[in-house]
Amino acid sequence: MTKHIFVTGGVVSSLGKGLTAASIGMLLEHRGLRVRMQKFDPYINVDPGTMSPYQHGEVYVLDDGAETDLDLGHYERFTNAPLTRNCNFTTGRIYLAVITKERHGDYLGETVQVIPHVTDEIKSAIRLLAADDVDVVITEIGGTVGDIEGLPFLEAIRQFALDIGKQNVLYIHLTLVPYLKAAGEAKTKPTQHSVGMLRQIGIQPDILICRTERPLGQKEREKIALFCNVEPRAVIEERDKEFSIYEVPLSLVNNKLDELIVEKLNLRAQPLDVSEWRQLLHRIQNPAHEVTIGVVGKYERLRDAYKSIHEALDHAGIALSARVVVRQIGSEQVVDEGPERLLSGLDGILVPGGFGERGIEGKIEAIRYARTKGVPFFGICLGMQCATIEFARNVLKLEGAHSTEFDKATPHPVICLLHEQQKVQDKGGTMRLGAYPCVLQPGSLAHQAYGCEQISERHRHRYELNNAYRSQLAAHGLVATGLSPDGKLVEVVELTGHPWFVAVQYHPEFKSKPTRPHPLFREFVRAALHRQEMRKRSPAGRSGEVAGRSTESVPVRTS
Ligand code: GLN
Repeated sequence: MTKHIFVTGGVVSSLGKGLTAASIGMLLEHRGLRVRMQKFDPYINVDPGTMSPYQHGEVYVLDDGAETDLDLGHYERFTNAPLTRNCNFTTGRIYLAVITKERHGDYLGETVQVIPHVTDEIKSAIRLLAADDVDVVITEIGGTVGDIEGLPFLEAIRQFALDIGKQNVLYIHLTLVPYLKAAGEAKTKPTQHSVGMLRQIGIQPDILICRTERPLGQKEREKIALFCNVEPRAVIEERDKEFSIYEVPLSLVNNKLDELIVEKLNLRAQPLDVSEWRQLLHRIQNPAHEVTIGVVGKYERLRDAYKSIHEALDHAGIALSARVVVRQIGSEQVVDEGPERLLSGLDGILVPGGFGERGIEGKIEAIRYARTKGVPFFGICLGMQCATIEFARNVLKLEGAHSTEFDKATPHPVICLLHEQQKVQDKGGTMRLGAYPCVLQPGSLAHQAYGCEQISERHRHRYELNNAYRSQLAAHGLVATGLSPDGKLVEVVELTGHPWFVAVQYHPEFKSKPTRPHPLFREFVRAALHRQEMRKRSPAGRSGEVAGRSTESVPVRTS
């Protein structure tokens, strides 16, 4: 029978509940258990697809096209659990299902209420992941205990233990134990209050994971245990990490969390083997190189907006024994201050995805800089579209070239709406979403990186490269090296004669893992290291100006 772990959070938000849930999943997998991961988000949007990154950070896209919470990115990076749209439910989606059923007449005669109708819908969402071949489902409840909007979820998980037996359910609560400098001690009261609130709802946590800045002393551990009604060994310390989020699972192992879970849920598990993970950490902690990548986007103060890109760059660095320093650069600043000042120290430039006109001209400027100075460039989605606009304007001399997303009346719509999007009115869940195949041109940089011709990558866009301009672009050096299998949609463009200039319509960042870096990120970072090496050798000779075919390419080693 499938067992269930529910992860809740208390005291404050942003404690890293997603990372902790993902780490638990990773540890259980390393004990030979088959795990599934799920997240509930208490907001009323049906999914995060229509939210601004300011509200929500990155929207993480799955193979099946679901637009989900960024915690699902952690789940995918830490575990092998397959993720589908059933792995992320919001209050909006639950209510939508309930109201649709009500209109259909499924509850005929009844008054439809939060309990039992909404809680039943939540419980059936949890049950969707239970199966004969699944040992443990880990369900994270978004938000903080005490939030009004989270109550139906907490009520549902309380009932769940009654439905399937408490012996099959484990409640793990993540809290904060702040250290007060003035008092010279760690404070347990916020944790007591947050657990008190959970107990009022009827949930007695089995395990407490305490985020702390400093080691948790025996005295504090015992106090928390006594006041919160858990065993002292079930008070687990999770200290702030020095180097990397990939330290979290190992620090939980040091606190014997895996053993405790296996024992409490009576799981048949193998001994823990985390040697691969330890090697990974060793590589993270002892890099041989350091490389600086500029991410030029419009959310320069919001790391979460480009979460998976940061992670994918880190993974590439791990593979190449390099610490990747990411400099987030505001694209509007590039216009205000000029590219030279902001971009000249970089080893590589990445322009990520995005929507809306703000900051577009700065992205185009940054790409022009990368193209003409021979700086390794990686464009992703909107980044690829901007690279096409830049090339059309500055190399093909098509004045006013633009995307119809930003200028409907442009004389040269080098980026235009996908045909299938022309009749789409609604904004929610209607983009070209999820995994689609792509065929790579033999010998291209992309082909060399992936090592195969057929790939599948995840998408989230409405616009595409306008095929009417494809041959003109190619004639001057911007070549489509990846296409949809029917040849109609450009998925990858590369600039001939440039050391490394690759731009893709899809989002490769969603498929990178610390133990399996994405090939394009790896080769981009390799090219950046190569440029750094060349510059060290001849600081003055900054790999000359590059434009289309005009300059010889600097050879880049690929693996
Ligand atoms: N706004 C562009 C489009 O819709 C790019 C989207 C993206 O970068 N994810 O096609």
